[in-house]
Amino acid sequence: MNERDVWIREVGTRDGLQSIATIFPTAAKLDWIEREAAAGVPEIEVGSFVPPKLLPQMADTAEVVAAAQRIDGLRVSALVPNLRGAQNAFAAGVDQVNYVLSVSEAHSQANVRKSVAEAIDDFGDIVAYRAAHPEYAHIRIASGLATAFGCTIAGPVAVADVVAAGEKLVALGADELVVADTVGYGNPAQCRDIFRAVLALAGEVPVGAHFHDTRGLGLANVDAALEVGVRRFDASLGGLGGCPYAPGASGNIVTDDLVFMLEAMGLSTGVDLDRLLEARALMESYLDGEATHGAIVTAGAPKGFVAASAANQGSARAAHAADR
Ligand code: ZN
Repeated sequence: MNERDVWIREVGTRDGLQSIATIFPTAAKLDWIEREAAAGVPEIEVGSFVPPKLLPQMADTAEVVAAAQRIDGLRVSALVPNLRGAQNAFAAGVDQVNYVLSVSEAHSQANVRKSVAEAIDDFGDIVAYRAAHPEYAHIRIASGLATAFGCTIAGPVAVADVVAAGEKLVALGADELVVADTVGYGNPAQCRDIFRAVLALAGEVPVGAHFHDTRGLGLANVDAALEVGVRRFDASLGGLGGCPYAPGASGNIVTDDLVFMLEAMGLSTGVDLDRLLEARALMESYLDGEATHGAIVTAGAPKGFVAASAANQGSARAAHAADR
């Protein structure tokens, strides 16, 4: 496995696909996942264990998990909204479940009809379920802290609320926290404040960032989070997806642009940008007119650009070039 400075998790197969009209057949999802894993992306959130009535796009997630598990070295994760979803995810054979907690009380009530405290209890139930089933002991349980940068119902969210929720999740046994700017309200100064606070409370527990580029600040927010020590980022290939509260707006930050930025900054991701762009083209071939986003796909890399991953692993790169 490659040495990486930054861990990238692809979420387009969940966050992206659940926000567009086209329903990808299982084979198309797997084609995408295989191609992106082959480019070196270490983790893919391949779907979500929600009732198929709510999200028909995600109805085949158990099947996708089982097939994705055949890919060597890939961490296969899936979103789960509750214990029931986690039980299904465990049974399907995930490496990691990603629970999502809304930090905003109003958003939590509107979204899952639960208070923040009740939703934290639900997270505890998932951890307890794993503890009671030794066959699942290897599965990581992560939690998102959604609406951490603001909420479409309540508006601003206090850093203290993010910290309070994060502390409880860590105390319950979270294996990872992912602080999420669910609706693209965040700015770089806010990122520095929030991530400093969350990294401090998390201790040894890894902390990731989930940004949406709704207002064009996605990569600026990545830079701010990097500055205070965050080394894990979610992104969506081609920026696939959108925002239910801002029709026409872009979705998650663009995986391809993120890889370019990090590699240009000297931070190795273990991802081969050329092969990632091939995966993007393949993913786009399955779309039915939905918009994709990104700059590096259009402009190409600057003259003389050397990816940090390539500089670190000149021999691996040469071997790969010889394969073509
Ligand atoms: Zn998202």
